[in-house]
Amino acid sequence: MTNDAQRRLVALLGNPNCGKTTLFNAITGAHQHVGNYPGITVEKKEGSYRMDGRELRLVDLPGTYSLTAYSLEELVARDFLVQERPRAVIDIVDASNLERNLYLTLQILELGAPVVIALNMVDAAAQRGIEIDAEELSKRLGFAVVPTVARTGRGRQELLEATFRLMEQGPVWTPLQISYGPDVDPVLNDFEKEILAASFLTDLFPPRWTALKYLEADAQVIERGREADQALSDRMEAVSAQLSEHLQKTLDTYPEAIVADHRYGFISALLKGGVVKRSGETDRLFLSDQIDKVLTNRFLGPVLMMIILYAVYQFTFNYSTIPVNWIAQGFAALGSFAESALPPGPLKSLIISGVIDGVGGVIGFVPLILFMFLAIAFLEDTGYLARVAYMLDRVFRIFGLHGSSVMAFIISGGIAGGCAVPGVMATRTLRSSRERLATLLTAPFMNCGAKLPVFAMLIAAFFPSKRAQMMFLLTLLSWAAALLLAKIIRSTILRGPSTPFLLELPPYRLPTFKGLLIHTWERTWQYIQKAGTIILAISILFWALMAYPSLPAARKALFEQERQAALAELPEEGRSAAQDLGPGPAESSLPAPVAAAREKLRSLEHEEAVAALKYSFAGRVGSSLEILTRWAGFDWRTNVALVSGFAAKELIVSTLGTAYSMGRVKRGEDIPLAGQLASDPAWNPLTAFSLIVFIMLYAPCFATVTCIVKESGAWKWGLFSMVFNTTVAFLLAVAIYQGGRWIGVGP
Ligand code: GDP
Ligand code: MG
Repeated sequence: MTNDAQRRLVALLGNPNCGKTTLFNAITGAHQHVGNYPGITVEKKEGSYRMDGRELRLVDLPGTYSLTAYSLEELVARDFLVQERPRAVIDIVDASNLERNLYLTLQILELGAPVVIALNMVDAAAQRGIEIDAEELSKRLGFAVVPTVARTGRGRQELLEATFRLMEQGPVWTPLQISYGPDVDPVLNDFEKEILAASFLTDLFPPRWTALKYLEADAQVIERGREADQALSDRMEAVSAQLSEHLQKTLDTYPEAIVADHRYGFISALLKGGVVKRSGETDRLFLSDQIDKVLTNRFLGPVLMMIILYAVYQFTFNYSTIPVNWIAQGFAALGSFAESALPPGPLKSLIISGVIDGVGGVIGFVPLILFMFLAIAFLEDTGYLARVAYMLDRVFRIFGLHGSSVMAFIISGGIAGGCAVPGVMATRTLRSSRERLATLLTAPFMNCGAKLPVFAMLIAAFFPSKRAQMMFLLTLLSWAAALLLAKIIRSTILRGPSTPFLLELPPYRLPTFKGLLIHTWERTWQYIQKAGTIILAISILFWALMAYPSLPAARKALFEQERQAALAELPEEGRSAAQDLGPGPAESSLPAPVAAAREKLRSLEHEEAVAALKYSFAGRVGSSLEILTRWAGFDWRTNVALVSGFAAKELIVSTLGTAYSMGRVKRGEDIPLAGQLASDPAWNPLTAFSLIVFIMLYAPCFATVTCIVKESGAWKWGLFSMVFNTTVAFLLAVAIYQGGRWIGVGP
């Protein structure tokens, strides 16, 4: 670039959505063209502006929040400033989000570039009751701060005047020096001296800035440093690593966090004493701050969070039982109707055991899921969910995860009732690949919407008086398991440092009724669709696996013989009454021998059905797994259901339903699955709890595994999650079952 061109160069920089493009167009009008940055596909817009014989060339840099080396946008913006050395930088700042936007400003100032601030969107800020004293801010910063409204052109002339004035001052770059506290400052000072003495990268960056980048382990700067002076670079890297370790040990933090803390500290000091005025109750942001003082308070916050989450369970479980019962009764009636209307045979079995029971078991939980989603939508739309993430960040760090992991966990079912598929996708916001992998491998431990029906059924059967408490306990358990396993993964196969956390807290809002309904309905509808399509198909497949091969004729004949023998003992007129196994006359109204024969016939039918299921393909698989799974208290029927759960977790309930309805006799009495399990001698609260924990932790469903493979870019992580999760789940279930028996709560 010629000297003359450089003398007219002005860069436009700001956070995404601060109005950069609007301002660029307003200034350059028709005099602009679009290109690419050399070697990169990031768009580069350039334009020019003339006034009174003076001219400037304006370059629109990509919108970014920071000048670290985490993203391409950040690198492009930074490289441009360093290499092109523009005469002035117009830093656009969103006046309604000043603190956050000034974070970028500070970094430009630390590089030393001459800045003028366009305090944009002052109209929107005023509407929110925010007023900024630009003059005072300008005085404190020592350069021009011009209020603008890019959309209307307000302030544009003034901004351009200020820019020209800055350009006329000549190419002076004076880096801003911020103190980073007693731990970091001495190291920065030492580095600075060495850097100056060796003229290390001084043609590119201010010395203190280079030093800071070494502390932040900035890959790009370190690479350049190695090329420039390998020995010095190595020494600085070693000292930085030492400091990082020291900070971890003594303060449980890391250099980037300290740097961010001090920058925000600098900003809040800069704005203290009336630079920002917020007017009264009409201001949502002001109100939000007030609410946050309570809701994210260091001590009160976590307590309130627990209470709020607990209230969600109370709400969901207490209010949904009524419609859940309606639906269960409806499907039971449908089953009875099919029982009496259809001729006996495979078709009847298919419709009753495969379709009605299978899908009914899943649809029956729609109200519960709807209530859960409504509660979550409320927390999300009010802005509280983001606070939960904010508060849990400190905890997550301990386990080698990141604040942004929280969203992935919550979406996966952290507040019971999500889905690991979008949860795994939500890890895209994580910048460190190790933290990201650890998050997507542990997010499936959360209690997704598909596990809920299984838990709800087992809880209804074995812990009926403690529904909400049990669900709450299960939520805590899934978080504990996910965090512990994340810690294990992050300290073994995925070792590495953590990355800093910047999270925006949206202002609190009162959600609209319509918005809540839309969010709730979208998710519930997804669930229903899944139940109606995949689950119906797989339910039928599993019915077939459980119905075939059917018992050999010889064994059927044996059962028939015994039946005839029982009937032969009765006089002719009692036989038809004994054979009616449906809801016939009450036992007491029958003559004793008839009642006894009926009882005998019932147990025969039950035995035959169980024998048939065990003989079926699914039964054989389940039986052969029993050698292992009996350590955890699972019988072959449970095994069949767990295998089907690989396809989709909802299927566990429907497969159990199918397995038990095939093996049950008192069809006419319509014992719902929960009741049936509760009265089965092989089941008790210990088996149920061991099973719940196993289901919570074992292999993710196929959809999630596919997603893990896609997101991690490697098959091995999909396989890993299946093997690792199932192993952990099995070991824990065995520990619970055997431990429970040992202390005497088991069978
Ligand atoms: P960029 O992402 O920084 O390029 O932002 P844009 O120029 O695309 O602007 C984002 C949005 O903010 C657009 O809808 C603009 O119309 C709007 N906008 C830009 N400047 C102002 C302003 O000063 N006041 C208000 N109220 N809106 C603005
Ligand atoms: Mg833009």
